[in-house]
Amino acid sequence: MAITIKTKEEIDTLAEGGRRLALVLKRVAAAAAPGVSAFELDTLAERLIIGSGGVPSFKGYRVAGIRTPYPATICVSVNDEVVHAIPTKNKILREGDIVGLDIGMWYKKLCTDMAITIGVGKVSPEIERMMAVTKESLDLGIAVVRAGAHVGDIGHAVEQRLKKDMLGIIRDLAGHGVGYELHEDPFIPNFGSPHTGPELKEGMVIAIEPMSTLGTWRVVLQDDGWTYKTADGSLAAHFEHTLAVTKDGAEVLTQSV
Ligand code: MG
Repeated sequence: MAITIKTKEEIDTLAEGGRRLALVLKRVAAAAAPGVSAFELDTLAERLIIGSGGVPSFKGYRVAGIRTPYPATICVSVNDEVVHAIPTKNKILREGDIVGLDIGMWYKKLCTDMAITIGVGKVSPEIERMMAVTKESLDLGIAVVRAGAHVGDIGHAVEQRLKKDMLGIIRDLAGHGVGYELHEDPFIPNFGSPHTGPELKEGMVIAIEPMSTLGTWRVVLQDDGWTYKTADGSLAAHFEHTLAVTKDGAEVLTQSV
C-alpha cells in the first residue's frame, strides 16, 4: 500500500487508540512472570483490547506467501525468537527469559502498533544492556523524525546506536507506515544513510521498530510460517512505537499517560 497522509482528526483518533493500546500492553507486561504461559498473556491482551473498545489487528492478518493467517492477538517472542512468535499454551515463561511483546489494535477503524521487550524475573546484565540500548535506539530514531527528514535518517540513527554496543541489527524486518492498514509504505529499515529514502511528510503515521541481537543479524523463518528466530541462537530484543510526523518533530501515539 502506498504512503498515505492522515488528517488531524484521524491522528487524534490514532492517539486515543494508541493510548489505550499502551495501557493494555502495560497490563499484559505486568502479568508476565515465571510459570505464566504465552497463551495466557494472549488471552489477557485480547480481553483488555476488547474491553477498551478496540479490535486486535494481528489476529487473522495475512501475509503474501505465508500459508495461515496469524492466529493470535499478540506476538510473544522468547529468547532467540526475534518477532512474530505465536503465543502457544506450551510456551511457559521462565525466570531469566527475555520476552518481546508485540501488539496491534484497531480503534475506530484506525490501527496502531507497538512492542516492548521485558525480562522475566531477574535477567543477566547483558540482557539488561541489550534492552536498554535497543529502547534508546528507538528514542534516537524518533528524535530525527520531522517533516522534510528522510526514512534513511531514522535507520541511520537506530543503526549508529546499536552498532556502538556491537549489537546485531536485523535487516530482513523493518518498521512501516501504519494507520489505515497494519502495514503501509514506506518500509523503514533499522539501518541506512542520512538524506536517503522517502521524504517524511506532515501527517504520515509510521511505526519504528528496532530489532537487535547479541549475535549476528541473520534470522530464520520457522516452520509455523510466522516465527523469526536468530540464525545463531543469540538472544534478541524489539521495541516499537507508532508516531505521527509533524512539521517540526514527531507525536508518539502509543504512549501511556
Ligand atoms: Mg510493526
